[in-house]
Amino acid sequence: MTKTLHIEVDPSLCASQERIISGELVYEELQQIQADIDPSSSPIRAELTFGKAGKFVVLTGRISANLVLQCAACLELVDFPIDINVKLAIINDEAKIGLIMDDYEPYLYEGERLLISDVVEAEVVLVMPSIARHDVCPIELPKTSTSKDFTLEMEEKKNPFEVLEKLKLN
Ligand SMILES: [Zn+2]
Repeated sequence: MTKTLHIEVDPSLCASQERIISGELVYEELQQIQADIDPSSSPIRAELTFGKAGKFVVLTGRISANLVLQCAACLELVDFPIDINVKLAIINDEAKIGLIMDDYEPYLYEGERLLISDVVEAEVVLVMPSIARHDVCPIELPKTSTSKDFTLEMEEKKNPFEVLEKLKLN
């Protein structure tokens, strides 16, 4: 059975043990992005390793999944594969953000324990499109984008007297 990533850990302890966290998050476990993806999305897989870089606890590894989103244009489902390289400095003191090495991104958490699924979901949020769309939609779309130009052209060609006629009728 695959281990869930919905686990809380002590980052400092994990760093000193160079602990490897490997597992997955299924749709039902998601808290931040559940509403944004389709239930047919694959579980989000991650393999992450705790370690130390300088004084910082760091978390490196990969997060991957084949998410399924809804296309904003045709409302059909669209595949959205993700493969994220993770390189985070895990801190619980905002004042230290400025001290982080250049090639690490800060991840700020509160309290003593770190919920791994929170980190994973936050990383996925960063690569999600604000609007999902097919490159080419599989079904024919209502011609909303072209009809605008069409109407403009028609209006320009309108005979000014016709417009007056209409006004009189009203
Ligand atoms: Zn589409």
